Amino acid sequence: MTSDPRDDGPVSGRDWDRAVEIVSSADEVALACHISPDGDALGSTLAVGLALRAAGKRVVASFGDRRFGVPRLLRFLPGQDLLVDPARYPAAPEVMITFDVPSVGRLGMLAAVTAGARELIVLDHHPSNTGFGTLNLVDPGAAATAVLAEELIHRLGLPVGQEIATCLYVGLVTDTGSFKHSSTNPEAHAMAARLLATGVDPERIAREVWDRSPFGYLGVLGAALGRARLEPEVGGGLVWTSVTRADRAERDLSYDELEGIIDVVRRTDAADVAAVLKEDDDGAWQVSMRSKGGVDVSRVCAALGGGGHAKAAGFTSHRPVEETIARLRALL
Ligand code: AMP
Ligand code: MN
Ligand code: MN
Repeated sequence: MTSDPRDDGPVSGRDWDRAVEIVSSADEVALACHISPDGDALGSTLAVGLALRAAGKRVVASFGDRRFGVPRLLRFLPGQDLLVDPARYPAAPEVMITFDVPSVGRLGMLAAVTAGARELIVLDHHPSNTGFGTLNLVDPGAAATAVLAEELIHRLGLPVGQEIATCLYVGLVTDTGSFKHSSTNPEAHAMAARLLATGVDPERIAREVWDRSPFGYLGVLGAALGRARLEPEVGGGLVWTSVTRADRAERDLSYDELEGIIDVVRRTDAADVAAVLKEDDDGAWQVSMRSKGGVDVSRVCAALGGGGHAKAAGFTSHRPVEETIARLRALL
């Protein structure tokens, strides 16, 4: 039984009641977020994990990356000890909860577990969510999955202390771009106020998430910006660049340090759409796309096998850079 993902309304009280019933009666809960987790995915997961563990449940949490590892900039999050390698994840959990996962494919190596889970609760805010759970708590109007994670914790009657609040706050600030993106709404600010009241340190979080990097980042950023291309005639203007494995190897920089580059590239006034192609350690290209609103980049990315939100989306390409850009041009 899956609820209809096309029903764009916020989650019904009845569905929340069912979620509370399912989670309260379970002894063991298995949590998972999407591969290459961002602050919202991992923050939401660890927040609920910490709350459930404090309530006496056995909790495991993971994400299905083939090379399992927490991105450097999220290692300060509390609750890392809840994480297990996906190879050690239960094959048939009594209850599984997914966070920020719009479709089964985004679970990577953990995708198969969804078939073995007796109850599968899907907590998400992607409009494209396919409703793959036995219970789907999906609110496309929520600024972050962390908003739904906070509500689940509240409805379970569990307290939110500083550690849990830190995890939730990281989800909220990363997905709203520090309250700059269009997803920012009164609810997001009200939630931030509640979290700050627990003693969350916003300065430290901002520094961890955005304002620090190894020295090598400067050189990689310089190389990427130096070869950026502006194609004003494509769509409402396209600006793009790429970062190769060689760029990173030369400066000893890990892949997950590249997240912020798109935020510099997308500043370009003459371009509605920005793209950064990042070569990962396996030689595949992870493409980050952003739009100022003229183009729905989630549709473009979906056409190339990826997905995301209207103004922030991505896909994976196994073709050379020029070929990937040619396909992008054609779609735009
Ligand atoms: P990023 O550019 O990595 O920050 O990703 C922006 C958004 O695009 C994310 O929130 C995801 O929803 C989505 N996304 C990124 N990469 C992929 C992918 N390979 N497949 C599907 N969705 C993706
Ligand atoms: Mn995410
Ligand atoms: Mn999210």
